[in-house]
Amino acid sequence: MTLDVAWAVDWVRRSAQTVIEHRDELIELDRQIGDGDHGENMTRGFTAVVAKLDALEAPLADIGEVLKLVATTLMSTVGGAAGPLYGTAYLRAAKATGVPELDSQGVVALLEAALEGIVARGKATTGEKTMVDAWTPATEAAVAAADSGASPADVLSAAADAAHEGAEATIPLVATKGRASYLGERSAGHLDPGARSTELILRAAAQAAQ
Ligand code: ADP
Ligand code: MG
Repeated sequence: MTLDVAWAVDWVRRSAQTVIEHRDELIELDRQIGDGDHGENMTRGFTAVVAKLDALEAPLADIGEVLKLVATTLMSTVGGAAGPLYGTAYLRAAKATGVPELDSQGVVALLEAALEGIVARGKATTGEKTMVDAWTPATEAAVAAADSGASPADVLSAAADAAHEGAEATIPLVATKGRASYLGERSAGHLDPGARSTELILRAAAQAAQ
């Protein structure tokens, strides 16, 4: 089994749907340790992405083109830290997926490229209470699943499960990057909003692959 451009489009549409459904939760999480705009930022960005998909006159040729559209749209419509971070993630992922179909190792390449983009842009490592704490275990779980012969859908499910664990594990952490770091020790006890949105987006990828 492989994933094609229809999967990528479905992933993006499902991402928009889940981000919109969890808009208030993401706002509340960001209100606790940031400025409360993450749910609004992500909703604005993914709503713009779907509008662009709907307005396309010809279908996009490959997965990379879909991810590039997401990247450029998020970069121009999502403010704050998350816009450039997710934008860079999708741009790097697009460069890793200029192919018609992805097998399990192709899915790993996509996730690794996205994580590299986030780290290149934001310079965070694990344990700093950011989206990196969801992306890193997700990518590691994807590598392990692909190496053991899992299908692309199962690789994405493993990644989404690990992103969930990673996001929950941000709760006790003290933030040392991003706006939450201004709170110092008071950032502990709250789930990082970007780790939560990462989990939602990776779950959408897995569901689109089922
Ligand atoms: P802002 O912090 O500018 O208001 P958002 O609220 O949209 O932007 O996004 C906040 C999220 O961005 C955080 O929850 C965190 O996951 C992520 N983030 C912030 N800084 C970094 C960084 N340097 N590296 C990785 N992720 C980061
Ligand atoms: Mg914010």
